[in-house]
Parts: sequence; C-alpha cells; structure tokens
Amino acid sequence: MEDPWLENRLRMVETQIVARGIKDERVISAMKKVPRHLFVPPDMIDYAYNDEPVPIGEGQTISQPYIVAYMTEALNLKQEDKVLEVGTGSGYQSAILAEIVSEVYTVEIIASLSLRAQELLAKLGYRNIHFKIGDGSFGWEENSPYDAIIVTAAPARIPRPLEEQLKLNGRMVIPVGSTFQELFLVTKEKAGLRKKKLLPVRFVPLITAH
Ligand code: SAH
Repeated sequence: MEDPWLENRLRMVETQIVARGIKDERVISAMKKVPRHLFVPPDMIDYAYNDEPVPIGEGQTISQPYIVAYMTEALNLKQEDKVLEVGTGSGYQSAILAEIVSEVYTVEIIASLSLRAQELLAKLGYRNIHFKIGDGSFGWEENSPYDAIIVTAAPARIPRPLEEQLKLNGRMVIPVGSTFQELFLVTKEKAGLRKKKLLPVRFVPLITAH
C-alpha cells in the first residue's frame, strides 16, 4: 500500500539525520522504514516528522528523530546483538532497534504506554521485541547480559543493575542528570567501565523507587 507519509519521512532522514552526520547505514535505513507517524497520538500526526520530540500522553514524549538516530548509532550495533531498552514509551525506538538487531528487550513503567506499544508493534509484524511492565532501573535480569543497553529517560546517576547486566565489551547510552543532563556512552572493558560524555540533552526523568 502507498504510504502518504513516505516523502515526509525520507525528507526527515535527509535533512535531520544524514545532513547532521549520522553515517551508520543500518540506522539510516531503519529510520527510512519505520512509520514514525503511527507512534504519535492521532492528533499529533502532523508533527510526527518534525525536528522535535512529540508528546505521547502520560506526560511522556517520543524523542526527537536525530536523538533516536544518534543514540542508536552510538551503540555500534551488530545484527546478532541482544539489546535492552529502558523506557518503551511509544515503541518507536524499539522498532528502530528491532530493524537492526536480532532481539530487543524493552521495559516500561507506565502500563498503558507499554500496552499501546505492544499492540502497534505486533500489528506492524515485529516478532523480536519482548516487553516487560516494570521499573527498568533494575534492568531485566532474566535475559541478561546484553550487548547493548539504551536508556531513554534520565536518572540522576547510572543505575548499578544496568552496569551489571552489560556484557564484556557491551555498550550503554544513557542520559544522566536532573536539571542539566549529559548523554553518556558507557563501555564495559576488562579493566572496568569507561564513561564518555557525548552531548548535552533533555529527557524526561527516569521514574524510580530507589
Ligand atoms: N523510547 C521511547 C521514549 C519514551 S520517553 C520512544 O521511542 O517513544 C521515556 C519513557 O521512559 C517514558 O515512556 C516513561 O514512562 C519511561 N520510564 C520512565 N521511568 C522508567 C523506569 N524506571 N522504567 C521504565 N520506563 C521508565
């Protein structure tokens, strides 16, 4: 079926993603393919391909397209990777990951958002995304360790369980901070964890009991 939003989506990828230096072909083709307009509420559909985050209900947002691409590229993913996402939200980032890697495990603390994402991603035919409703600051231990972890809400500091559930040579991208936030790339090396600041960002806070 003809997708009336295809032109907007390809323009988004050209002007917001490629023009700003994203090079990973797998990230670029995933962003050309995933129908972002289906992940925003119907009354926000005209904003789906804009250069900004969009409200998705429950006080949450779907991240700006460039940030989705930037974080995904920073994970340096391989097809056989197993990835944990904290903050399913709309499910858009989950779909981007599922286009690139073999298994995606995603945790969301707000049940209504998770259920909506589960329904949409099933309808779109994704079979490699596994959902959990709960506090993702504890990770998802049963399926660990992970090759990569992506956190799409900001904690004040990096939750220890996420560090523990990363494989040796695994990569994690995570926004950290309360008022001002920095995006970090954490890599697990033999000698320990290496933490690199990537860029200043703004995310919704990670809701956590501890
Ligand atoms: N990746 C999402 C971005 C959603 S915004 C997308 O592509 O749409 C961040 C999400 O993190 C919100 O849905 C919020 O409810 C969720 N969140 C906040 N704290 C959380 C926690 N402790 N565990 C799991 N999810 C959490």
